[in-house]
Amino acid sequence: MTQKTPVAILGATGAVGQKFVTLLADHPWFEIAALAASERSAGKKYGDAVRWLDPTPLPRHIADMPVLACEPGIPGAIAFSGMDASVAGPIEQAFAAAGRAVVTNTRNHRMDADVPLLIPEINPESLSLLTLQRSQRQWKGFIVANPNCSTIVLAMALAPLHRAFGVEKVFVATMQATSGAGYPGVPSLDILGNVIPGVPGEEEKMESETRKILGANILISAHTNRVAVVDGHTESISVGLRKKATPEQAAEALAAFRAPADVEALPTSPRPPIVVHAQADRPQPRLDVGLGHGMQTSVGRVRACPILDIRLTALGHNTIRGAAGAAVLNAELLVSKGLVPAR
Ligand code: NAP
Repeated sequence: MTQKTPVAILGATGAVGQKFVTLLADHPWFEIAALAASERSAGKKYGDAVRWLDPTPLPRHIADMPVLACEPGIPGAIAFSGMDASVAGPIEQAFAAAGRAVVTNTRNHRMDADVPLLIPEINPESLSLLTLQRSQRQWKGFIVANPNCSTIVLAMALAPLHRAFGVEKVFVATMQATSGAGYPGVPSLDILGNVIPGVPGEEEKMESETRKILGANILISAHTNRVAVVDGHTESISVGLRKKATPEQAAEALAAFRAPADVEALPTSPRPPIVVHAQADRPQPRLDVGLGHGMQTSVGRVRACPILDIRLTALGHNTIRGAAGAAVLNAELLVSKGLVPAR
């Protein structure tokens, strides 16, 4: 890649926006051309507008960049969106209409029938929906979405089992990190030493988005919980299979899972996508959330389930694999396939 693609980050000051900055600051294919956020931040220097939370230091040249308004005239052929979902819908549409490749984390367009809900390792063929999207909406650009942060962990754990044995039923209970609620998120006096059952809207998302990604009408029962963990969503999963499998066969299918060769070659692609842990007390967020620079999904405790067939624990980094890293990988796939409109 000789010339880097200029990109904009919409919602650059938020928890996900900061992860975008970290992942894109030294990216081999992309250069940050614009940082944008709400009118509260627009006009300030990024370093003054942001409450920087990432352990990676904020590069000086990025701290000095101005924060712009989220308007389609700003630079960038790709617009990464980490905006608050209450405002993201029409802004993302305006960027797509103006010829930008909008690569979004937000929920607003995920379930639209003509929007790819993309996990490159699982359903790269979903990009064929862009032809339909362009013709239906008459946009010069397009929108591609990545799934909800809990859905990605579940879909990564289910995809190998679905391919090998056919997944029919799923019971899943999440233990979701506080960073999943953005900044400042849940008040400390609510979450410290506590578990809060129910993450609003996320159970429905896990059920519907997983069905769309895997292209299968799987019966899913999701239970969500917010726990006092900083980063990393952990999930206890039980799976009913069409073709019966032993725990060893299920663990083998998970460990053998690979992305298609063209996806595996992308800079942000985790190799392998799934790490199967043998220890009885893994995966754990504190020990395993950073594997593969936060892009690998960890699974462990693969064992027989007396109600369904197989049960296991899965873990993924919510702001990297579940958000900014997922979107960067999606954008790399779009560039590698020549789908990003020139600018
Ligand atoms: P956050 O920390 O609250 O950040 C929200 C961002 O949206 C900020 O940059 C904010 O800018 C911007 N914003 C708010 N109102 C705006 C407006 N009117 N116009 C333009 N920008 C506006 O939230 P987050 O956790 O980063 O989440 C961002 C999005 O990603 C959400 O849609 C969320 O559902 C999704 N997501 C989050 C995670 C996660 O793990 N956190 C995972 C997957 C998906 P100001 O600073 O100027 O207010």
